[in-house]
Amino acid sequence: MWRAGVAGKDWDAVVIGAGVAGCVVAHALAGRGFAVLLAEREHVPRFKVCGGCLSEAALSSLRAAGLGQLTCLAAAPRLERLELAVGGRLWDLPLPGGVAVRRSHLDGELAAAAVAEGVHLVEGVRAELGPVIGNRREVRLSGGGGRRSVMASLVIAASGLGGGSLGSEAALRPRVARGSRLGAGAVLEDQDATPGTGIIRMTCGRGGYVGQVAVEGGGLVVAAALDPYLVRTGGGVGGAVTRILAASGRPLPRGLANTTWKATPRLTRAVGRAAAERVMLVGDAAGYAEPFTGEGMTWAIESALIAAPRAAEAMTRWGPAIAAGWTAEHRRRFAARHRRCRRVARIVRHPWAATAVLSVTDLIPQVTEALVRRLARAEIGS
Ligand SMILES: Cc1cc2nc3c(=O)[nH]c(=O)nc-3n(C[C@H](O)[C@H](O)[C@H](O)COP(=O)(O)OP(=O)(O)OC[C@H]3O[C@@H](n4cnc5c(N)ncnc54)[C@H](O)[C@@H]3O)c2cc1C
Repeated sequence: MWRAGVAGKDWDAVVIGAGVAGCVVAHALAGRGFAVLLAEREHVPRFKVCGGCLSEAALSSLRAAGLGQLTCLAAAPRLERLELAVGGRLWDLPLPGGVAVRRSHLDGELAAAAVAEGVHLVEGVRAELGPVIGNRREVRLSGGGGRRSVMASLVIAASGLGGGSLGSEAALRPRVARGSRLGAGAVLEDQDATPGTGIIRMTCGRGGYVGQVAVEGGGLVVAAALDPYLVRTGGGVGGAVTRILAASGRPLPRGLANTTWKATPRLTRAVGRAAAERVMLVGDAAGYAEPFTGEGMTWAIESALIAAPRAAEAMTRWGPAIAAGWTAEHRRRFAARHRRCRRVARIVRHPWAATAVLSVTDLIPQVTEALVRRLARAEIGS
């Protein structure tokens, strides 16, 4: 949807992607007085494959950014327990907080807050990075009834997994990890609280894991990480999810068989560089690990907030050190957290290993507490 003046205007920043990272960084930059165009290929609010579990750390980042007062956050059930089924056993672990929210509500409200701060949002428009021309970066926009080129001092790519926005910059393309799973999700409406409100029900099985959590308005978010092989041979995403739940003896939520699933590209990936000339990557676009620990939104919001002051500097006075500095800072902040998440995800691929780890926590309750705290910092989610 085009509004007048998009192409003719000299933008300080073009942000590609109105997910959590894109909205938060666009909001922060507009708040500093920059002219920001936010381009989203879908129409807002849009569905996003995600468990929707927002950690305490993410909530406090949103509050720090002046975004803590969203209506959906007030209505979202508070997370209290993790019910984890693995290797034929069930563990019931306390959670230290966080909320379960519908991504369509969260991202829709974040986009609205960005617009209220002065961001110019274009929806239904696919953006692709163009070349550097003088002291500007070109961005090509298509959809919404035409094609346009816009110029900006800086482009921030917040396009998530595989958005195809970085075509002209091969160096920024992610390397997908061997054996990486794909993500899938749906929201089932009118559930009578299965599992109970405030409980993340996580089921690990052969070929993947499935998270279920009740969200505001009586819906049930179902999100899964699945081996592509299981999806191919197990009757598609729906068949794979059903197999994992049925094998663990879990009840199948109402409507599971008839729901429409959305899937993601392969999940675990890393970039060699998180920036190039007049372009910075934030959120999943700058690297992601499997969703078992549910940290994705926390990382995305945090990366958007720490990118904002660097982006402000880059728009005022670009220099190659800015790109190198952002790559180094991003690696320093997130590489170890991605690695830890990948380690946890590797453990749950082998039910015997997960059972062994969790059995220790049975014997030594303090270990359970430490594990939950650890995972809470890692924010158990989907
Ligand atoms: C199965 C699963 C469960 C998960 N569960 C949780 C959880 O419980 N808790 C948690 O914190 N995290 C979870 N995550 C991770 C979380 O969803 C992501 O880490 C988070 O959404 C990243 O935010 P983002 O803004 O970087 O990307 P996104 O939210 O993916 O936003 C990217 C946006 O860019 C748009 N876009 C893409 N390409 C273009 C283009 N070329 N032009 C214009 N727009 C474009 C997309 O349409 C999208 O709106 C889960 C992920 C998966 C796959």
